[in-house]
Amino acid sequence: MTNRVLVFDTTLRDGEQSPGVRLSMSQKLEIGHALVDLGVDVIEAGFPISSPGDFEAVQTLARELRGVQICGLTRAREKDIDVAGEALKDAENPRIHTGLGVSQNHLENKLRMSREQALETGVNAVKHARKYTDNIEYFMEDSGRADPDYVYKVVEEVIKAGATTINVPDTTGYTYPEEYRALIQGIINNVPNSDQAIFSCHCHNDLGMATANTLGGVLGGARQVEVTVNGIGERAGNTSLEEVVMALYIRRDIFGLETKIKTHKLLPISRLVSRLSGMMVQRNKAVVGANAYAHSSGIHQDGVLKDRSTYEIIAPELVGAEKSEIILTARSGRHGLRHRLAELGFGFTEERFEELYNHFLVMADTKSEVGDEDLRDLVTK
Ligand SMILES: [Zn+2]
Repeated sequence: MTNRVLVFDTTLRDGEQSPGVRLSMSQKLEIGHALVDLGVDVIEAGFPISSPGDFEAVQTLARELRGVQICGLTRAREKDIDVAGEALKDAENPRIHTGLGVSQNHLENKLRMSREQALETGVNAVKHARKYTDNIEYFMEDSGRADPDYVYKVVEEVIKAGATTINVPDTTGYTYPEEYRALIQGIINNVPNSDQAIFSCHCHNDLGMATANTLGGVLGGARQVEVTVNGIGERAGNTSLEEVVMALYIRRDIFGLETKIKTHKLLPISRLVSRLSGMMVQRNKAVVGANAYAHSSGIHQDGVLKDRSTYEIIAPELVGAEKSEIILTARSGRHGLRHRLAELGFGFTEERFEELYNHFLVMADTKSEVGDEDLRDLVTK
């Protein structure tokens, strides 16, 4: 097993399925170029049969982008696969992502197939996809709620048919980290030909555990993670690219694994996707939120000004953020105020500073944040 984790970005497919998001062709291409610069391994560019726009997106990215695998999603149907094959024709390294559900729920309520029929359909889809590429990923929708023995059987047969990546989606965001880890580990240990494929985590964030589950899957032996920038996606979203990448990096002492991501490009691409998709990033979002490197309480400010590592585990430059921010509020202490005044070029005697500090506290009680302009007013009053 290698120590490289492949990053499969699905911002343009699963992410674009977020309610309210509609990206134009040129916006998709702009994001595609940024994803290549960031260093992702695979870009899932769309679901070609679903609409002319998706077809065009996959085709355009396949033609324009180099140094990355371009993937198109299909159902386990010949027509879907043919359309994806056509859209991907000019890609340097095309990948077809096909598959179908494996949980009893999906088999009965959605697919209306027996287990045997579903297995045969999946195997045939893989064989058909091989007409277009040897790079085939097979997804088992709703694996998180499926019977493991049936999952093992499906994995064994689709690998025999030619699948090289096996996606184990927790489609409904139902699982938890230990369980998802055991699911992946169980597949790898129980499927005789599991060494011939890479296993992939695809998690959703319905219970806020997508990142944790994905990392659980990686500990269980998965070597591909399916993620979106800012975690955008249906319902509560997908696994967030920046969180998984930074967790693997910051805790490399535990994981001992690497990605090809240039981490200093994380914040720029987060802002790009937020701007183009119209999906705001919450201020307290891990890694890329506006407040992620901001400190407002006096005790924390004092610590960070003495040594950043006291309250920060990620150096802001590492993800492309400007620097740690000291936010002045009513909870800030003398140290934070003195530091900011010095940055603005002001120096005072102790007596004058005490006076200013008292004025500052009065002002801070009436506002959520005291900005540089407020401080200039305060000093010149
Ligand atoms: Zn999904």
